[in-house]
Amino acid sequence: MLWDYQQPVAIRFGNGRVREIKDVAASMGLTEGGLLVSEQLFAQNGTAEKIVKDSEGAISEIFSDFSPNPDVTEVDKAAALIREKHLKFVVAMGGGSAMDLAKSAASIALTNDSIAEYHGTGKAMPQEHLPIIAVPTTAGTGSEVTCVSVLTNRALGKKAPIVSDGFFPSVAIIDPELTYSVPPHVTASTGMDVLSQAIEGYWSKGHQPICDACAIHAAPLVFKYLPIAVAEPNNAEARQKMCEASVIAGLAFTLPKTTSSHACSFPLTNIHGIPHGEACGLTLDWFARINKDAQHGRVQEFARAIGFEDVDAMADAIHELKVKVGLRTGLKDLNLSAEQIADLVRISRHPNLYNNPVEITDEMLQDMYEHLAATD
Ligand code: NAD
Repeated sequence: MLWDYQQPVAIRFGNGRVREIKDVAASMGLTEGGLLVSEQLFAQNGTAEKIVKDSEGAISEIFSDFSPNPDVTEVDKAAALIREKHLKFVVAMGGGSAMDLAKSAASIALTNDSIAEYHGTGKAMPQEHLPIIAVPTTAGTGSEVTCVSVLTNRALGKKAPIVSDGFFPSVAIIDPELTYSVPPHVTASTGMDVLSQAIEGYWSKGHQPICDACAIHAAPLVFKYLPIAVAEPNNAEARQKMCEASVIAGLAFTLPKTTSSHACSFPLTNIHGIPHGEACGLTLDWFARINKDAQHGRVQEFARAIGFEDVDAMADAIHELKVKVGLRTGLKDLNLSAEQIADLVRISRHPNLYNNPVEITDEMLQDMYEHLAATD
């Protein structure tokens, strides 16, 4: 077995560490020209302004004009601001949406291109980019340590990841206190993304030992701490452990890549508006059962390593976790027509599907979506 491992992002983890932004920037020689891409809540409640003030001139602009599952036009707007103000680095403070927008903007700003030219077209991103400091505010995507930027082109009805080495942030500052304000349903959904990334990173065709170890570390933390973080948003231990799970699951999947559940999540989010993590979790137990005997027993070994008797018991626990934290377990409320099910099958045929350890046929997808369409 041949494998490579590389992880270029410096990680600073712990409560209160958001206050280190200025020092981190200074240590990179960045003392002016910073753009803070900020989650809207933090732009509204004064947190973003305080970060700008505390930066003592290092950060001069705030951009918060973007939506969840950011659109290519929003990336272009951020890039235009960087060009217009001759900005030199980007601090991305928010969930995956903020970080992914910032990553693409930090690259595209050094060209005159629209990000749409690179989104889902196969055109390689330019390697030059502005330095990025990533500050996640959800325990979810792990985007702070990945080379991925997931964007949406609403005009074309397309959501897809762009991958570029230039997207790796230089530094990730993970401050669990920033996640206390995340509402319960967003906590649940983003936490389910963590679990999906750990499990899919492990069973991906591109699996490798270091990422396996990360997946085995991250997954049990989600089973234990997600229900607590949802029920008690200010529970410091649960928030800290979910942030730990999130960054380590990010390390678990960024090289192996995600698989079937992520492939199916794209149309579920794009067409039916189901939040990203909830959409991933919707199919995770189904694919666990499909993959259970794959890779000469590796998937069974994973289930045992994280404390279950076998993969079926792990799949049952995923289902129970969804129920406990209030995430959907079916699509019955959407009253899907046969045509809508056919669309889901067709659009799930995303490149990530081919990383799944078992070949997924259209018939398997049809079966799954028919089952979900009939389930509450
Ligand atoms: P998000 O960034 O879209 O945020 C979800 C909601 O929570 C938004 O309404 C946001 O405003 C709010 N929010 C965020 N932080 C908050 C806080 N601290 N307090 C209160 N509200 C807060 O959600 P996400 O799950 O973090 O990111 C999802 C996006 O990331 C999707 O587009 C997904 O495809 C992408 N993604 C990227 C990667 C990657 O490696 N780049 C990996 C997985 C997913």
